[in-house]
Amino acid sequence: MAYVIAPPAQAAIPVAGNTGDLFPVRRVWCVGRNYAAHAREMGADDREPPFFFAKPADALVPVAEGDELTYPYPVATNDLHHEVELVVAIGKPGFNISPEQANDLIWGYAVGIDLTRRDRQAEAKKGGKPWEMGKAFDRSAPIGPLYPVSETGTLEAGGITLSVNGTPRQQGNLADMIWPVADIIAQLSQMVELAPGDLIFTGTPEGVAAIGPGDRLEASVGPVGTLKLAVTTRS
Ligand code: MN
Repeated sequence: MAYVIAPPAQAAIPVAGNTGDLFPVRRVWCVGRNYAAHAREMGADDREPPFFFAKPADALVPVAEGDELTYPYPVATNDLHHEVELVVAIGKPGFNISPEQANDLIWGYAVGIDLTRRDRQAEAKKGGKPWEMGKAFDRSAPIGPLYPVSETGTLEAGGITLSVNGTPRQQGNLADMIWPVADIIAQLSQMVELAPGDLIFTGTPEGVAAIGPGDRLEASVGPVGTLKLAVTTRS
């Protein structure tokens, strides 16, 4: 047996530290709104269950440590938004697991930007249609290198920020997640069989806004580094 076309390249993101090691990516799951505007006041019974969407693995754009990604403004939008997110990389299989078991699945963490064609997403919401053209477009997921959990420890608090041209736009804390990472993993594992190579974008704090050509973004999550991106004109 032989492939009738060349097989697509395996999506992968580099491991931090310039080791040359790569983490192969299987699927990219994303959580909808997951940060409370204020300190968490709700009890567990009051939480809406998290909802999930996906991006294709080849929407990832890996950005090396210290580099600035040149990012041509995408097609089919006039309202491109930034969403800085903690990305969790899954290193072990898990199905129908509990939050207490969930952290054992984590291989590592990265900072990512869930770039969103907000106009396309708004159309989809209004029409009760799928979100893919707003969320799952080409190059919609710039991501920094992956930091092993063996080095970072479990991340449950710490700053998550994004600035545009040096001006802070998003300033949150991982502790403000409505559904902490362990809960997200457990909930997602009720829906699909998680497997090594799956990534989870864990939602964004408040302050999302439009970006355009000429803007320079810096997105940071605690100990997993800073992702830099320079938006250029549509190619
Ligand atoms: Mn998002």
